[in-house]
Amino acid sequence: MKIGFIGLGRMGAAMAANLVRAGHDVTVFNRSPGKSAALAHLGAHEAAHLSDTCAGSAVLSMLANDDAASEVTLGKAGIINHLPKGAIHVSMSTISVDLSRRLAQAHAEAGQRYVAAPVFGRPDMAAAAKLFIVAAGDPAAIEACQPLFGAMGQKTTPIGTEPSAANLVKLSGNFLLASAIEALGEAVALVGKAGIDPRAYIEFLTSTVFNLPTYKTYGALIAQRNFEPAAFAAPLGFKDIRLTLAAAEKLRVPMPLGSLLHDRFLRLLAQGGEDLDWSAIGGLAYADATA
Ligand code: NAP
Repeated sequence: MKIGFIGLGRMGAAMAANLVRAGHDVTVFNRSPGKSAALAHLGAHEAAHLSDTCAGSAVLSMLANDDAASEVTLGKAGIINHLPKGAIHVSMSTISVDLSRRLAQAHAEAGQRYVAAPVFGRPDMAAAAKLFIVAAGDPAAIEACQPLFGAMGQKTTPIGTEPSAANLVKLSGNFLLASAIEALGEAVALVGKAGIDPRAYIEFLTSTVFNLPTYKTYGALIAQRNFEPAAFAAPLGFKDIRLTLAAAEKLRVPMPLGSLLHDRFLRLLAQGGEDLDWSAIGGLAYADATA
């Protein structure tokens, strides 16, 4: 497919590379220059302007947050003003339910199609084309994007026709992941302060009753207190908890654990955690316990 890809950060660069490798005709763009050279080497076209990414049948975006997704989509130089009628914007960023609704409406008014397709999996999984993609929107548009999803992920799950449903599922998933990280951090602090080897402890749990990828990945990072360099930066993790709570507030769903996680992230960021991986909230309990 002839497509555009906007946002060559930790995730986007790896995802765009897999689209090129799969044989798609990909034009890439990033706000800051200097991030597309490796992709050009693989065979991607480097866009001089954002609008150059909008000449194909679909444009994919993988951006940090609501501000970025809003600017890139709705801004004067953005996607809405340049994508042909009938073409598809596949928004893969983790953004708010509200913004996803606004983008869906704006694309509909412009005669374009909009699919929300946020992803689960860190940059190593993106590089290995092993992402889990949750997609919502017009079923025909999702179907048309399957060759793209197949190049980036190991499984794509359609979740309905209302695009924002995919964003809510993604946010709820990150709430669960952050909850697991906090719980792991508290458990590791408990056994660690008692003198038990945290690595052996995590190895035991994740090979028995917690034999799950999430516990293996984050348990190892917490046991080793290995939070740098960030694969998923703490400010983005904080953003996801804030967006989860905003959705919960609107739906009148109390999420006390979500509120606790909000404060954990705030503490991490207040005390110098801006550049750490989000799993660094799993190191706070040990820090609290050992002064
Ligand atoms: P990242 O490395 O920080 O990259 C963010 C991207 O957004 C960069 O290309 C950045 O461009 C661009 N951007 C930021 N503000 C912008 C603006 N105002 N206008 C235009 N572009 C802007 O983030 P990431 O880790 O790739 O994450 C991208 C998205 O995927 C986020 O929504 C995140 O929550 C989600 N996600 C991340 C992971 C993960 O493990 N990392 C996993 C699943 C989902 P510049 O280079 O110019 O700054």
